[in-house]
Amino acid sequence: MKTLACKDMGLECDFVAHGETAEDAIKAGMEHAMADHSDVLESMKASSTEEEMNAKAMSMVKDA
Ligand SMILES: [Zn+2]
Repeated sequence: MKTLACKDMGLECDFVAHGETAEDAIKAGMEHAMADHSDVLESMKASSTEEEMNAKAMSMVKDA
C-alpha cells in the first residue's frame, strides 16, 4: 500500500490518498486535489510541467 498525504504537499488538510501502487495513490490524490484544492492545483500547473508535477508527487509517496 502506498499513501500520498495532503500535509506533505504543504496543505492544511488531513486527506491521505491510498493506492496499491504509487501511480494509484497519485491518481487518487489528484482527484481529491481537483475537488478540494483546485486553486492550488492550478497554480502548480502554471509553474510546473506535468512531468515535474508527477516527479514531485512520486517523491512524496510513502509506503504504508
Ligand atoms: Zn486535501
